[in-house]
Parts: sequence; structure tokens; C-alpha cells
Amino acid sequence: MNRNYIAGQWLEGVTTVANINPSDTTDIVGYYAQADAAQADEAIAAAHAAAPLWASSTPQQRADALDRIGSEILARREELGRLLSREEGKTLPEGIGEVARAGNIFKFFAGEALRQRGDKLASVRPGIEIEVTREPVGTVGIIAPWNFPIAIPAWKIAPALAFGNTVVFKPAELVPGCAWALAEIISRAGLPAGTFNLVMGRGAEVGQALLDDWRIDAISFTGSVATGTRVAQAAATRLAKVQLEMGGKNPMVVLNDADLDVAVECAVQSAFFSTGQRCTASSRLIVEEGIYKRFVQRMRERTAGLKIDHALATGTDIGPVVSGAQIEQDLSYIAIGQQEGARLVHGGEAVTRATPGHYLTPAIFADCSNEMRICREEIFGPVAAIIPARDYEHALELANDTEFGLATGICSTSLKHVQHFKRHAQAGMVMVNVPTAGVDYHVPFGGRKASSLGSREQGSYAAEFYTTVKTAYVAG
Ligand code: NAD
Repeated sequence: MNRNYIAGQWLEGVTTVANINPSDTTDIVGYYAQADAAQADEAIAAAHAAAPLWASSTPQQRADALDRIGSEILARREELGRLLSREEGKTLPEGIGEVARAGNIFKFFAGEALRQRGDKLASVRPGIEIEVTREPVGTVGIIAPWNFPIAIPAWKIAPALAFGNTVVFKPAELVPGCAWALAEIISRAGLPAGTFNLVMGRGAEVGQALLDDWRIDAISFTGSVATGTRVAQAAATRLAKVQLEMGGKNPMVVLNDADLDVAVECAVQSAFFSTGQRCTASSRLIVEEGIYKRFVQRMRERTAGLKIDHALATGTDIGPVVSGAQIEQDLSYIAIGQQEGARLVHGGEAVTRATPGHYLTPAIFADCSNEMRICREEIFGPVAAIIPARDYEHALELANDTEFGLATGICSTSLKHVQHFKRHAQAGMVMVNVPTAGVDYHVPFGGRKASSLGSREQGSYAAEFYTTVKTAYVAG
């Protein structure tokens, strides 16, 4: 049984849960300890107590620790990728790719630890100099979702440690395996006891304990809008620093002048790969009238050729949905789409395979209206809605007509429209002739409107959240 990591010790939980493989529900990945609020309290106390020591560590100590973690993750990418695919259901190449990304993130922030800069300015008053420096925020509570079981924890934990903060990490209930493996690697990186803590457990109990505790100075959360709103409210109550990354209903615009092969590939990859369970997935495909029929036809053909099977089987393009509850949600939205009058032109059926798992054929709805629920609410599964647009202006209007603003895309060969779209798309990330899902690890990631709150994650911009600025005035 894999335990929680608190104050440098591996501790039994209050209860234990089985981690079940969504590709084969008879396969138990492992048994994992579950903390309760009291154990969360111990972890918070340990992180709080360790904060002054880690805040005074040298950039070299931080860089060495992070580099060691990153190197081990990269060296074990095949093994950890297999674990990831087994517990979350994305295909093995996707799992290995995500692990490599996590390793590279630790390496990147090892470098960032050494690149902490400040400013020195002359005062407007005589005889005074001003220094602007960054200091750690203190103790950070990290709450992660299940869909990127190692990359998201990595892009929060690595900058937190790089900038001298201590961490209490609560992973999602469905993916304790990757969380535990990552914690085990971090536990051997030479950090002082209490600097990093892992508490696996329920959101409503362990997560809530992090939100409500005054010793947690900052909360970095990724997950649904519903939970994110609670996180923001709890943070506001005690004025804690908070950063939220939440859902999306990301559009991809396809104009008449698009390269059809590129557009179909971008759409299929963004909408269906990783079983559509990506916050950056393109779930609304907004297609100009002149290319509409050909696009729908090619989407159907390309999607029909995808192999939906066990995540670890060779040649699988799309693995299972993560859980029974999630496939129920996907199927209920597919029924809603049909009731709303959208035309289901492909898939949308629960299917069986050699092993008992949550298999769903990717669903393509055509002739959708942007007002339909399947075009407004995040489904978080392999379901794409194709919406016709009269012209570029109409397509842009439809793309922006959403409460979300994470990623947006356009497939076009028109420089004029691409440039206009980049400027006027209301989203944190704009993709031109590339899928909306799939981003680099060294540049900022985040959105606008209901998709995000607070400063950006990743890249050098992560310093905004994980540090606090101090302005010193010195009379000479
Ligand atoms: P979720 O909101 O159900 O859970 C996220 C985390 O919050 C989990 O660890 C959960 O245990 C915890 N939690 C639940 N209740 C809590 C509470 N009361 N207090 C504190 N913590 C609590 O989300 P999920 O189903 O795990 O993930 C899917 C969602 O994540 C989707 O909406 C997806 O778009 C979003 N997501 C966003 C991004 C992004 O960067 N924008 C990336 C990946 C996933």
C-alpha cells in the first residue's frame, strides 16, 4: 500500500482506496492511503514549519534538487508512462509524452531557480536607492485534477519549490498512482523534511482543509469551474493568494481557404485524442459554409479509422474514458445533443472490447447551433460539435460567444484573417494551423473569462504566483 508523505515520513492513511484501470476494471493498479482532515493538518503544519528553512536555501540547492527530480522522471519515462496510461487511460505514447513533459518542467525550473532577478532603481528623492526583489510566498497548497496526473502536479510543484516555497500537494482521487510515484522521487531529492508533502484524499475533506487553513499562504488549483469557484470563495474569505485553471469550450475555426488535411488533423487531434479529456480540447468546430460539407465528410472518415481500445495496446489511438461516472456524463450529453436537434454523424456509443473498460466511440455532431447545451457546457469527453458559419466575421463571433476563454484555434491560409483572429480571439492561447491541445512547457499557459483566475502558470511567468515582490528604500 502506498502511503502519504508528511514531514519527511511515509504515513498510513485513515482509509485505503483501490486505484482501478479504466481500460480493464478487473485490474487494480494499487492501493493508496487516504488522508483525512487531521492528517492534512499535520502536513500543513510540517510545510509551515519548514518554510523559513527552504526560503533561505540557495538557488544552487533548489536547482540541484529540481534537476535531480527532472532527470529521474526522464530516465523512467517508459515505466511512469505505463503507470499513467494504466491508471488514467490515455494511450501509452500519450502517457510517455506527458511524463517527459513533467521531467522537462522540473529541468526548466531548475534553471529558473538560478535566474531570479530583481531591479535596482534611483529614487525620485535624493540620496535614496530602491531595490525590487522577489521572495517566496510561503506555503503553497496544490490541488490537481485527474486528466494530467503528472504534468499538472509538475508544473505547480516545480515552480513552487524553485522559488523557495514549501508544498502540500493533494492529487485528484482517480490518479493517486502518478502522484505517489512523483512524491517518491521528490522524497529522495535532498529537500529538508516538510518542504514537500503529499496528502491523498477526498477533495471535500483534504482539499477543503487546505483552502481553510491560514498557514496555507497560496493555493494553486486546476479543475472544474464548480470546484474552482469554491476555491476562490474560500481564498477570498481569508485573503489567500489564489490561482485557478478551469474548464474550456474551446473553438476551432475552419475557413474556406484552409488546407483541408491540416484542418481535419487539427480537429481530430484536439477533439478526440486523450479521449477528449483535455481542458484545451476543441469541442466546438466552427466551419465556414464553403468547406463545411467536405470537412464533415473528412472528419467522419478520419474518425472512423481511429482505433479505440485498451490504453496499453499497440496501435490504440484513443483509450477509455477515465471512469464510469465520466462515461455516464459523456453519454448523457450525447443524448442531450440528439434531443436538441444536433445531427449525430458518427460514434457516441459505449462499446465493448476484450477487457471490461469505459470505451466510447468519438461522437461527431453536425449542424449544431452555438446555443445548444453541447456547445455551451464542458462535456470533457470525445464529443465534437460542428457549427456552420456564414463567413469569417460570423465564425469569430461564434468562437468568442462562450463563457470560457482558455484556448482557441484557426485553420486558414489567409494572413489577414489569421492576424485579425490572433488579435481579437478572447482566449489565453491562440493556435494557428495547429491543434488547440498540445502546448510547450516553457511558455505561459492559461486563459480568460471563466477558464482562469489569477496569474499565468508555467514558463518564467510562473514567478508571478510563486513569489511576492518587495520594494526596499535605502538611504546611502
Ligand atoms: P474537479 O474540480 O472535480 O477536481 C479537481 C480537484 O479539486 C481534485 O483534486 C478534487 O479532489 C479537488 N476538490 C474537489 N472538491 C474540493 C473542495 N471542496 N475543496 C478543495 N478541493 C476540492 O475537476 P476534475 O474532474 O478532477 O478535472 C476536470 C476539470 O479540470 C475539467 O473541468 C477540466 O477542464 C479542468 N482542467 C483544467 C485545466 C486548465 O489548465 N485550465 C487543465 C486540466 C483540467
